[in-house]
Amino acid sequence: MLPTDFGDDRVLHILWMNGGLSCDGESVSLTAATQPSIEEIVLGALPGLPPIELHWPYLDYQNGPDLMTWWHRAERGELDPFILVVEGSVPDERNKPEGYWSGFGNDPVTGQPITVSEWLDRLAPRATAVVAVGTCAAYGGIHAMAGNPTGAMGVPDYLGREWRSTAGVPVVCVPGCPTHPDNLSETLVYLLNQVAGQAPMIPLDEELRPRWLFEATVHSGCDRASYYDQSDFVAGPGSSACLVKIGCWGQVVRCNVAKRGWINGVGGCPNVGGICIGCTMPGFPDKFQPFMENPVGAATGPVTAFVPLVQTLRGFTVRVGMEPVDEPARS
Ligand code: SF4
Ligand code: SF4
Repeated sequence: MLPTDFGDDRVLHILWMNGGLSCDGESVSLTAATQPSIEEIVLGALPGLPPIELHWPYLDYQNGPDLMTWWHRAERGELDPFILVVEGSVPDERNKPEGYWSGFGNDPVTGQPITVSEWLDRLAPRATAVVAVGTCAAYGGIHAMAGNPTGAMGVPDYLGREWRSTAGVPVVCVPGCPTHPDNLSETLVYLLNQVAGQAPMIPLDEELRPRWLFEATVHSGCDRASYYDQSDFVAGPGSSACLVKIGCWGQVVRCNVAKRGWINGVGGCPNVGGICIGCTMPGFPDKFQPFMENPVGAATGPVTAFVPLVQTLRGFTVRVGMEPVDEPARS
């Protein structure tokens, strides 16, 4: 299952394709990663990682305009192993009589653009792993919302949920709009270690996300959760109370951003006053609209009903904790 023949003398290539339908948010996000940073990954600062060459339009310090050479080499089977990172959703190029929706580089013979879906057809069968970064690449995202004239879809929908890489790995999805910087760099490091034979198969959940990053809800890591418990909800800006009544979906969305912070442990949507709009989830954005409305109003009802009891019990435990404890009678 793991490429155990990966030796010290071999370089592990990462091909980052940002030609899908996207805003390049994941590329921008990765520049903010700190745990670890992309510089630490590519400069060999992390002990035990194999030598890495990153072919990324944002940081192609090695090849400049010849970036596409690496894609053609991978297609010819000259790069092994390599990880293909896909940013942006995959349009359906068959749903129109002519033209193309999204391309990445040109065909050296014809000079015509090579579409993103064609690159997936060429490279996925040879890839050691395919990583769909951002909600667009993972599940279609904004481009796949109602109407969807491009027929946009996520990489797992394009390749099929049953698809496996040459190392037996399903498409690995790191959703988010954009992806959390450290979730992205941490997942890449995990896969690099796995390809090097130093980590077991990456554990993924039913939506193909790294399980350890996406198993808890936003709510469970939110700085405002104790306010929710007390039914203390904000009515407008300038309050540190719970945001659920102005549209926070944190109770049902699985994302670690509130727990992890955004950059270097600081920030994280609800912690800094931004409602969770479910950007890591399949079906985003359609299933989470309209934004800025109480999405789970029913959920506040039962809690509100129990507030007097909870407050009574809290008051009891606080009082008991402050009262002097009776010394046992000495005989
Ligand atoms: S702001 Fe959102 S995530 Fe935080 S406690 Fe309220 S509902 Fe939960
Ligand atoms: S907290 Fe919500 S809006 Fe913020 S990154 Fe996570 S899923 Fe997206």
